[in-house]
Amino acid sequence: MDHRLRRRAVVARLGDLGVDALLVTSLVNTRYLTGFTGSNGQLLIGSDVELFLTDGRYRGSSQREMPDIERFSAERSYRGAVVDRCGTARVSKLGIEAGAMTVADHTALDDALGENVQIIPVNNVVEDLRRVKDDEERELIRRAQAATDAAFSGILDRLAVGVSEQWVARELERLMMDAGADGMAFDPIVAFGENAAEPHHDPNRRTLEEGDVIKLDLGALVEGYHADMTRTIAFGQPASELRKIHDVVRQAQQAAIDAVRPGVTGIQVDAAARSVIADAGYGERFVHGLGHGVGLQIHEGPWLGTTQDNVLPEGAVVTVEPGIYLEGIGGVRIEDMVEVTGEGCVVVGVSSRDMLEL
Ligand code: ZN
Ligand code: ZN
Repeated sequence: MDHRLRRRAVVARLGDLGVDALLVTSLVNTRYLTGFTGSNGQLLIGSDVELFLTDGRYRGSSQREMPDIERFSAERSYRGAVVDRCGTARVSKLGIEAGAMTVADHTALDDALGENVQIIPVNNVVEDLRRVKDDEERELIRRAQAATDAAFSGILDRLAVGVSEQWVARELERLMMDAGADGMAFDPIVAFGENAAEPHHDPNRRTLEEGDVIKLDLGALVEGYHADMTRTIAFGQPASELRKIHDVVRQAQQAAIDAVRPGVTGIQVDAAARSVIADAGYGERFVHGLGHGVGLQIHEGPWLGTTQDNVLPEGAVVTVEPGIYLEGIGGVRIEDMVEVTGEGCVVVGVSSRDMLEL
């Protein structure tokens, strides 16, 4: 993973943004640009300056993770070092990440910098680069998905009458860890029966009964990279309407996957799925956007939804996750990550999308 190339790409954008340097305070963006995996790290970057800022806890690890970058560790605040370096590097316009700095930090930084340096809030400088994954990032996402697929297949023969949603969630976590995950991309969603009508149900003590649908939304984390997959299956024979909406959701998902290619917008891909669901009479029951990018964050750009006019670039990894939710009855969502290729896309995972009846 060449972090230096990424930093160069940031510096190349600074002129257009009208800033001499950028202070990266988003931890995930700092990780993307340096490889730093700790919990306190900032990066001051410009054509004449490259300075990583952390505290004493990370002096050793940051040296290992980024031997090629000048590092500064402060006991309390990184601001003093930023002020000093802006002076020696003659930075008069300093970009900050508008989405990552609190108003209080902005005020304190502004006070510390004084008259000579103007702060200019900018948006999505690093996030835009992160939308296109390199080979190594895609490989890490595939490894995270492989652990996710393993957990899904592993849970199937553990599902039995009387197990609780919470128990299944813990089992999924254990299975993902056993399959090589470093952690969870997010807390697994496990929803039985009528609970599946909630798109993001928090697993509780509800126990599995004959005839329940089972909605599982899970993802593993590998070296900072996330996976995200949803499957809806049944324990015994589900109500016929649930079988019907599973067919609709599956067709909707396939229509969207078929629509993914470089240059298409998030609105267009969303519409491909949404029209299938609307034609089946369930348009009102698809209550969320179609998908999102996945990478160092579980939710990141590009976005797929009714108002997301961003274009999908080759190399992006996005989810395609239509759903239909029927209050009091249950719900179905099917979610897969796809890699945008030169011609279209490829699905990352291998788990069956059928409504398996256990
Ligand atoms: Zn999900
Ligand atoms: Zn998702």
